[in-house]
Amino acid sequence: MKDIYSKHINGTKLTSLKPQVRGVVIHNDYGTLNGQQYEQWLYNREANGEYVKGWAALYVDKLYRLWYHPTNFVEWHCGNQYANTYLVGIEVNRTHPDAGLTDEEFLENEEAALQTAAEILYSYNLPVNYSTVNLHREYFATACPHRSWDVHVGKNAPNTRANQLVLLDYFIKRIKVYYAELEAAKRKEAPVKATIDRVVKQVKKINTTLYRGRSKSAYFDGFVDSQGAEVRKRTGNRVTGFKWTKKAGYSLKPGEEVYIFETHKGWGRIYTGNTTGKGSNEWIWLGRLQVDDIYKADK
Ligand SMILES: [Zn+2]
Repeated sequence: MKDIYSKHINGTKLTSLKPQVRGVVIHNDYGTLNGQQYEQWLYNREANGEYVKGWAALYVDKLYRLWYHPTNFVEWHCGNQYANTYLVGIEVNRTHPDAGLTDEEFLENEEAALQTAAEILYSYNLPVNYSTVNLHREYFATACPHRSWDVHVGKNAPNTRANQLVLLDYFIKRIKVYYAELEAAKRKEAPVKATIDRVVKQVKKINTTLYRGRSKSAYFDGFVDSQGAEVRKRTGNRVTGFKWTKKAGYSLKPGEEVYIFETHKGWGRIYTGNTTGKGSNEWIWLGRLQVDDIYKADK
């Protein structure tokens, strides 16, 4: 399964941040495209305004996994405010009859989506249960996920809660298998894929105005937002006051990862805790930073 990252992952966003991620929704796309083909199709929809009809963060099949929009931003995937605001949408690609997939081929695509669900839940430290694993039809009058329903519950099976639980139990059982693998890898301290980490992780909130003294180790790290961050020098002293108007002569690009070693009046010292030498006095405005990991809690 090849990961594809759309222009929205590091670029402009279609919506605002979710206040919190609470789980995932497994969809069936009722389409014929694979993850690679979906990228341009979705851009075309944006261009002609049709994206308002809906889209999800992920479009997954056994060959391609399109990360269309960051998982921690609101999606239009359920026609339901709670689900759009708090849940990550994962489309199983090519579930329309015209795609001509056998049940076995469909199950391979579905399995890729369930593996993805495990990665997302794991990355947000969420458990695998009925509240974190969801069906579109729990939130909206839809047959979605229609083919999963046909295969795991039965063709024309009524949309009862008992039948929903049959499908949810299957999804949860499979997701737990992948989730356990991630936990086992973590115990062995296998390196986590940084790119996936960046895409799925929630931007953390920090108090940017707090003064944090210069430190040899980073307080937190993050990714530069879509506007980029111009690097500045701090000038002045305690008596005259400090300013950050002097340009260092370069900028950090959108998506660049950066570690912060001191914070002062909304600015963050980057690169090094050294008191002299290159990079010792270079700062970015913390408003341009999407905080990823916090290493030292504020006292
Ligand atoms: Zn759906």
